[in-house]
Amino acid sequence: MKVLSPAEIKHVFDQQKSYLATNQTKDVSFRLFQLKRLKTVILENQVEIEKALWNDLRKSPEEAFLTEIGIVLNDLNHHIRNVKKWSKTKRVVTPLFLQPSQSRMMHEPLGLSLIISPWNYPFQLLFLPLLGAISSGCCAILKPSPETPAIAKLMEKMVAETFDPGYIAVIQGGKETNTLLLQERFDFIFFTGSSRVGKIIMKAAADHLTPMVLELGGKSPCLVGKEANIDIAAKRIIWGKLINAGQTCIAPDYVYVHESLKDELLEKMVFHMKKMYGEDFQKSKFYPRIVNENAVSRLEGLMTDGTIYYGGQVDKADRFISPTILDSVKQEDPIMQEEIFGPLLPILTYKNIEEAIGFINENEKPLAFYYFGSNTKAKELMKQTMSGGVCINDALLHIANHHLPFGGVGNSGLAKYHGKESFLAFSNQRGIVSTPTWVDLSFKYAPFKWFKFIKRLF
Ligand code: NAD
Repeated sequence: MKVLSPAEIKHVFDQQKSYLATNQTKDVSFRLFQLKRLKTVILENQVEIEKALWNDLRKSPEEAFLTEIGIVLNDLNHHIRNVKKWSKTKRVVTPLFLQPSQSRMMHEPLGLSLIISPWNYPFQLLFLPLLGAISSGCCAILKPSPETPAIAKLMEKMVAETFDPGYIAVIQGGKETNTLLLQERFDFIFFTGSSRVGKIIMKAAADHLTPMVLELGGKSPCLVGKEANIDIAAKRIIWGKLINAGQTCIAPDYVYVHESLKDELLEKMVFHMKKMYGEDFQKSKFYPRIVNENAVSRLEGLMTDGTIYYGGQVDKADRFISPTILDSVKQEDPIMQEEIFGPLLPILTYKNIEEAIGFINENEKPLAFYYFGSNTKAKELMKQTMSGGVCINDALLHIANHHLPFGGVGNSGLAKYHGKESFLAFSNQRGIVSTPTWVDLSFKYAPFKWFKFIKRLF
């Protein structure tokens, strides 16, 4: 994969600055046209995208569609349908004391944006933010992760075939390329990745006070209440955990279950994972691989906590780790100190749910919070905790609704996107007050005539 030199990176950046200065991206019909072109190139390359995701992560075409291509297409259609409406300058109420002025609010593109994405959903996480860039009228430099080279190369080709590089361009590379890119003065940065790298990006952006969205990770807890439907809970937790072999930012990281329900929950989890993937996970065409050998070694190291209730098989050469349930894990174990990001599921038990809530609140605010049980109990627990998103009696699903803002809070992220939120994230909301000249009320000028009367209008 060609990695650009510092001078070549600067050239792409300068090209985009000049393109932006033509103001053509501000025209809403231009943006609509580009969204439609993006849709066409995705549809034309669907099979190639599926193949690349298979090569990089052994994602099945079914999973690739449900968790990457389908999510992008769905949100893309939503942008195509609404970009005109979202972009309209809107009249807003003007309070009496400002009349006869009129007030409007317009959306304008923040300008030149940088989108940096990780490897776990490499297609979705590069193209979903791109929708916001296009519909708001920004130019964009896209930097995919080098860990998934097949899809990174394909996305570069798709973008180069579809867009003028002065408008949208893919730049390949890793940490060094990002360091060079971050020296430039972007108008907006959209970063998806780990909280550790998120801090590096934020520090670099601080030099220019560049606004940003940070989509980060963390440990998303999964609580199973006494009143839960255990069979459904087991099935849906396992589904959420094993999609992409656990390499999902919002995967249920660990499970806290009432001690009286643990045995039944674990039995049913094993039953459902076999039903989904068969007896031999390594032979299943639906079970993905771990991204690289380093990640396999890291996960292997975490398997020593608690006792292995089920699984534990590792084949490094195949980057395979079987779904592994770890029983009798304690809050202080190493596996409970970092985001797992793999198919290991620690199980902890509580006598009183406050123990689990206490643990969640002592740690960083998670990206997602999952509760299996009644809506009433879920509401009560939501009051006691904070997270980027929530699912009640399911996992992951909140990411798939483009009407919901998606993102983290605190250590799991800064600001939201998806649907209209993506449009807003890349936009400057410009407030305008327009005052007629046929009248010039004197009360705002010294010596503040009728001050007592005017004060009452506030
Ligand atoms: P990462 O933070 O290591 O890398 C993300 C991007 O930053 C990559 O493009 C990488 O090349 C670049 N990068 C890495 N080190 C850098 C450095 N020192 N300076 C500048 N750039 C650098 O993350 P990852 O391993 O690719 O992805 C996994 C992480 O992403 C997990 O923590 C996961 O939770 C998180 N994630 C979050 C979301 C979300 O929507 N919130 C989605 C997917 C993944």
